[in-house]
Amino acid sequence: MQNTLKSICIVGGGTAGWMAATLLSTSLRGSNIKITVVESPDIETIGVGESTVPSIMDFIHACQIDLKEFIQATSASFKLGIRFDDWLKPEASYFHPFGKVGKDINGFDFYQAWLKSIADGNNTRWLDHSPSAIMAEHERFMLRPHQSQNWVLSSYAHALHLDAVQVARYLRTLCQKRGVVRVEATVKKVNLDSKDFINSLDLDDDTQVSSDFFIDCTGFKGLLIDNALKVEFESWSHYLPCNRAATVQTAQVNKPVPYTIAKSLAAGWSWKIPLQHRTGNGYVFSSQFCSDDQALATLVSNVDGKILNEPRIIPFVTGKRKKVWHNNCLALGLAGGFLEPLESTAIHLVYKTLVHFIKHFPDGDFDTGNEQAFNAKIDTDYLEIRDFIILHYCTSGRDDTDFWQWCKNMPIPESLHEKIRQFRKRGQLEHTPGQFFTSDSWCSIFEGMNIRPQKYHPLINGFHSQDLANTLSENIKNIRTTVLQMPNHFDYIQSHCKAR
Ligand SMILES: Cc1cc2nc3c(=O)[nH]c(=O)nc-3n(C[C@H](O)[C@H](O)[C@H](O)COP(=O)(O)OP(=O)(O)OC[C@H]3O[C@@H](n4cnc5c(N)ncnc54)[C@H](O)[C@@H]3O)c2cc1C
Repeated sequence: MQNTLKSICIVGGGTAGWMAATLLSTSLRGSNIKITVVESPDIETIGVGESTVPSIMDFIHACQIDLKEFIQATSASFKLGIRFDDWLKPEASYFHPFGKVGKDINGFDFYQAWLKSIADGNNTRWLDHSPSAIMAEHERFMLRPHQSQNWVLSSYAHALHLDAVQVARYLRTLCQKRGVVRVEATVKKVNLDSKDFINSLDLDDDTQVSSDFFIDCTGFKGLLIDNALKVEFESWSHYLPCNRAATVQTAQVNKPVPYTIAKSLAAGWSWKIPLQHRTGNGYVFSSQFCSDDQALATLVSNVDGKILNEPRIIPFVTGKRKKVWHNNCLALGLAGGFLEPLESTAIHLVYKTLVHFIKHFPDGDFDTGNEQAFNAKIDTDYLEIRDFIILHYCTSGRDDTDFWQWCKNMPIPESLHEKIRQFRKRGQLEHTPGQFFTSDSWCSIFEGMNIRPQKYHPLINGFHSQDLANTLSENIKNIRTTVLQMPNHFDYIQSHCKAR
């Protein structure tokens, strides 16, 4: 008889805790595994984490959530990518779009064909071939129509900007309807058995919760994974020096745009995340180069609308647990690790970790090989995203402040060094299955930072130059014409999914 788990206890009621409860209550339906969430009424959630990547749509779909209802409940707007201001040099912007850029030609990466067309003297922008970038440029949006396989814009992708507090609230209500048990209490003590497995938790209402498996979603403190199980944290601050964020919310002054804005500043960068009802703003900085007071003053002087809450400072460390899964505990969300928010990947990593966890779902024997295989997958996910984020810093054209000088001279991981070397040679980027950032994403950053390969793939020379030029200009025309027929992003929200 197989020894199956009977209960899972999730500790923490932030985005990670409620995402875990929602996905598990959907995936484990019919298994009779009891899911409990313990959330403290006294310890606040982090309250930021409002920009996402397209996998949020997979999460919504996998959890059988009604998209319109979710958008309305979380005051969400749509996101087609990130606009990077001043990273290459002052007044220069570039865009990192979601979805595909161009269509592969005769089995070759579109980027290679585009490089040839540039070498032939054609002057099209790389992003003219990205439906998401053109939609963002014109602030247009609509959800994909049904039967859209042959649609000119079929390769666009989008994510959401969401109100983090409303997300946790929405998912909590949904989970409770789906039978998840919610316990409102603070965990005082974590009880381990002789094999270093968690037995039970002592709560501040003098009750105890026992469970077969625990998911630590207690945020940066990692109450279970760190305090109790002593799983080490590996810091990557030698590659990613930002370690604090000043944050504030402001009233909406203009129609929300369908993209996040990330602007480089003297000691880091700032974000603007436009929701339906307000904008989230933050200045991510390094305490080695900027004080909290300086960061708060810079943040406040860079925002547009009326300030709605008390600006605050959030300290963080970039890195991850050496093992995200240890014995009968999974560390999820900030308890498991954090890569600074430049590419808005933390919520994605929560979802991805849960997907891997469901694939490797343990039975009561807790096979260590299964745990190791899972941890290896998470390591790969983190390292890939880490390198992609470092790319933004190490290729920036800025050297006008001590922070940017530091970034110019910092060491970079060998894996990234090799990727940049390969790209510079002839624009080739290896893509491994499951990798989140596609070669289009990498090319968008390289292109934005004015880094072009010396050569292109030799077989592309077989393409007929005029035919290629005609195909490209036809594609650009089709994308633009279709985009211009779409509604304005905000008007679309107002008429289809306005916040309640
Ligand atoms: C500056 C900054 C900007 C970010 N921006 C983005 C972004 O744009 N996009 C993105 O995807 N992610 C972003 N993130 C990450 C994102 O905020 C988190 O991944 C996400 O909110 C998940 O947080 P969490 O649930 O792990 O932790 P938290 O929100 O901190 O929740 C912790 C929970 O644990 C509970 N808890 C703690 N101790 C106890 C206890 N003893 N007993 C019971 N309960 C307890 C608390 O009450 C709370 O409910 C950002 C993070 C930071 C720091």
